[in-house]
Amino acid sequence: MRSFDVGKGFGEALLSLLRSRGQVFGPLCGEDGVCRLRPVSSWQSLSDAPPLIPPKKYLFPPRERLWSLAADEYRRMTLSDGPTALVGLAPCDLHAIAYLDRVFAEDPHYAQRRCRTLLIGVSCAPREDCFCPPWKSPPPCDLFISEERLWCCSEPGAQVAAALAEFLGEAREDVPLPDMQPAERSFEAPADLEQAFAGSESLPLWTQTAQRCLSCGACSAVCPTCTCYDVVDEIVPGQAAERFRRWDNCFFTSFAQVAGGQQFHPDRATRLRFRFEHKLFGFGPLRGAPACVGCARCARACPVGIDLDKLRRTLLAEKKS
Ligand code: SF4
Ligand code: SF4
Repeated sequence: MRSFDVGKGFGEALLSLLRSRGQVFGPLCGEDGVCRLRPVSSWQSLSDAPPLIPPKKYLFPPRERLWSLAADEYRRMTLSDGPTALVGLAPCDLHAIAYLDRVFAEDPHYAQRRCRTLLIGVSCAPREDCFCPPWKSPPPCDLFISEERLWCCSEPGAQVAAALAEFLGEAREDVPLPDMQPAERSFEAPADLEQAFAGSESLPLWTQTAQRCLSCGACSAVCPTCTCYDVVDEIVPGQAAERFRRWDNCFFTSFAQVAGGQQFHPDRATRLRFRFEHKLFGFGPLRGAPACVGCARCARACPVGIDLDKLRRTLLAEKKS
């Protein structure tokens, strides 16, 4: 992979180039101490803290109109968003976007946004509560920056680098991407965890943990790989109808409710097990591809301290005892 030493002024020049082409967002800490993805005007102001709401919001917005019907005219929504660059993304958020790419492979709204979005990753130092797995593939992005070096990871990324040649040293093909520093609590979902999970329905662990859950939905809102959504219709009789999709949460009582009032997840313990399974083992065609990238956002955001990593360790310990 082609890489370059970066010279003085590279970060600001990169931002300036990206801003001339479209919107640029990156992690910035506000006066309230919360880090959010916001429009970036200075490379120096980028934060190395993880943004509270992850980058998925630019690819899969919390609420979006799918179609409308008015005066007998049906209109499927076309997107007006222009090119977007997301800068300063940590490897976990990049791997999360790679997961979204698989989930939404056939979703036209996601696909349109994704192909207009340039991803610029940076190396990170895992925080104390991170439990990201040892990554088996490089962070999927267009450009990656670590310690004054730039790697071109895609053709669009190489084009950006070419436009900034005056800020770059000589191109080299023999410098590998840096090893990602593993988190202290780094985890993989081993076969024995799946076995422990499979026979665990009656363990008090689920009920005891789930009875604290407030069904507030924070864990899904902050999760970079939560993709469940609800579809709602808003209708003004005789005039217009619109269909929206909006983020959903598997802890909501309405989540698994179907016609006739039937409920597939009637209690919180079942909902917790469902979430655990989805995050750590994946579902359907993505079974075996964990949806969790170990960013620990859900544990930080949960008002009652529900932590999937602690649950995982407790489950394994109970299985052994
Ligand atoms: S740690 Fe929590 S928020 Fe982060 S990816 Fe895993 S489930 Fe989602
Ligand atoms: S953030 Fe915590 S309390 Fe809120 S829905 Fe998720 S697990 Fe339940």
